[in-house]
Amino acid sequence: MARIGLVAHDDKKDDLCVWAEHHKLKLSQHELWGTGTTGSRVMAATGMVVTLLKSGPLGGDQQLGAMIAEGKLDVLIFFIDPLSAQPHDVDVKALTRLATLYDVPCANNKSTADAVLAYL
Ligand code: PGA
Repeated sequence: MARIGLVAHDDKKDDLCVWAEHHKLKLSQHELWGTGTTGSRVMAATGMVVTLLKSGPLGGDQQLGAMIAEGKLDVLIFFIDPLSAQPHDVDVKALTRLATLYDVPCANNKSTADAVLAYL
């Protein structure tokens, strides 16, 4: 069972919910963690249990980064919005940096998320 982190920027939350619903059978075999708003949206959309961290801009991204640093997260699905400025951009960068540093599979769009999930 993999520990999977779920995050999506606001304009990408619908996409992540659709993706999660599409892959519900497989995702429900794993342990799901999410930043506050994303995780709540995925739970409401799919009925799957997602352990909620703080909202991303309030520290949730950093909580996921800490999980990676401590070896407590196996996969990061992070649907980034490349067309909007994020007030917490430094946190976003820190999270993707730690995923790179610790060689944690990190999917920033749907195609990559499909590929990562197929590998689990
Ligand atoms: P949210 O955080 O799920 O609480 O909106 C995501 C983010 O980092 O923007």
